[in-house]
Amino acid sequence: MSATQTPQTRPELLLPTSPDYDTARRIWNGAIDRRPACIARCLGVADVVAAVRFAREHDLEIAVRGGGHNVAGTAACDDGIVIDLSGMRAVWVDPAGRTAWVQGGALWGDVDHETQAHGLATTGGIVGHTGVGGLTLGGGIGFLMRKHGLAVDNLLAAEVVTADGSIVRASADEHPDLFWALRGGGGNFGVVTAFWFALHPLGPTVMAGPVFWAADDTADVLRFYRAFAAEAPDELGSVVRLGTVPPLPGIPEDLHWRPAVAVICCYAGAVEAGERAVRALRRFGTPLVDLLAPSSYDAFQGGMDDTVLHGWRYYWKGTTLPGLSDDAISVIADHAYAAGSPRSYVAMFHMGGAVARVAPDATAFAGRDVAHNIVIDAVWLPGERGAAETAWAQRFAHALQPHSAGGVYVNFLDSDDDSSRVREAYGDETYRRLAAVKAKYDPDNAFHHNKNIQPVTLRVDAELFVDRRELA
Ligand SMILES: Cc1cc2nc3c(=O)[nH]c(=O)nc-3n(C[C@H](O)[C@H](O)[C@H](O)COP(=O)(O)OP(=O)(O)OC[C@H]3O[C@@H](n4cnc5c(N)ncnc54)[C@H](O)[C@@H]3O)c2cc1C
Repeated sequence: MSATQTPQTRPELLLPTSPDYDTARRIWNGAIDRRPACIARCLGVADVVAAVRFAREHDLEIAVRGGGHNVAGTAACDDGIVIDLSGMRAVWVDPAGRTAWVQGGALWGDVDHETQAHGLATTGGIVGHTGVGGLTLGGGIGFLMRKHGLAVDNLLAAEVVTADGSIVRASADEHPDLFWALRGGGGNFGVVTAFWFALHPLGPTVMAGPVFWAADDTADVLRFYRAFAAEAPDELGSVVRLGTVPPLPGIPEDLHWRPAVAVICCYAGAVEAGERAVRALRRFGTPLVDLLAPSSYDAFQGGMDDTVLHGWRYYWKGTTLPGLSDDAISVIADHAYAAGSPRSYVAMFHMGGAVARVAPDATAFAGRDVAHNIVIDAVWLPGERGAAETAWAQRFAHALQPHSAGGVYVNFLDSDDDSSRVREAYGDETYRRLAAVKAKYDPDNAFHHNKNIQPVTLRVDAELFVDRRELA
């Protein structure tokens, strides 16, 4: 591959003069506007090897693009090369073995669609156009996690192109240190060209959907939800969404954009058992609208896609909660509806179940013991000013901080979350272990355009040495 490529060379290389360049450089978050020197559109592992080697030879900054949904915009860089996996979206299901190979640029909608054709599913994100790559490598939380674990708990193996352009397979038996780090450590260790996931029987019809209540009922709904979630079976995944009623099909028009709290559920089991599990929730108070019903899992998973469109502007703040104390509920009710835009919202994921039963050091994902993962999403439209929305998210996160369980989900970090916040996301012990794996597979930190793990360096080693001497 060279900058003077012919059309036959692989991967296709887009330069700023290429007709598709402007479309290809855009990512989901329209607030990010970066101009790479080139974009390598990869179609397979050989293309990725060529792109990594080319970048290393020419000392180019590397950004890796999976689904392009990282809110901090790590999938795009200025001046360097974007290794673009968006042409690598194939999913191969082995129905008998209940596994699927998924290419590194696939979206969760691709996975749900293909696996559901066989009545199977695995834990993925709650929006269909989010990428498998970034979401999985950060851990992967979603509706099925309490029953089946995180996305990384279902990862059986990965094919990885490392910083020197080698192709390696990571699993429990092959490069187990790399396999451990990939399961939570983000895109720090190489380009994953394929993920191999375990699948589980599901649906195709499941009891799923949202119930909305008026914003004024928020504190009451959350106090009810505290007990409801605490007693929920593992099959019941739920996310609380605070904001406005989105203008989606099936929702009466007079409710559109009305401030509201919703509990969105998905029961990973028989519909009848699901109906029983959500009965008390649906009877609570006076819902504005109740859309919890037997639904196609595939359609349910795509149900929120139009509430977070490509090209809108986004900023977010993440935190965790050990539980829903009365004080935390007051903070949430006070801040959730103070955003300026009706598109801004908060999503609160109920953790626990199978997630919490995996040993904390089995994978690099931190935060298995938290009760809720919260992300406060500031959203504004092109042409609008984002300062007020951004300030709302920051104020809200600051107010929640005293109630936090500590730490943050690494996939909910934004661009102003610096290296200390990355360390906080993992905790010292996991971070040090990740740094050692990083030193082995990417000692030059070629993959640093991400939530970066610094490879262990001589300087850090010396600090550790001093620490040990002080301890002695
Ligand atoms: C609308 C929306 C909904 C979301 N919902 C959820 C959710 O339900 N659960 C959840 O856990 N998270 C969720 N997230 C957060 C999500 O996990 C992160 O934004 C994640 O970074 C998205 O991955 P991506 O591949 O789309 O992003 P990208 O921006 O393409 O990738 C982010 C980074 O991941 C790395 N990366 C991506 N693919 C690869 C690969 N194949 N190999 C190596 N490195 C790679 C790169 O470092 C890249 O810069 C959501 C985000 C959005 C925007």
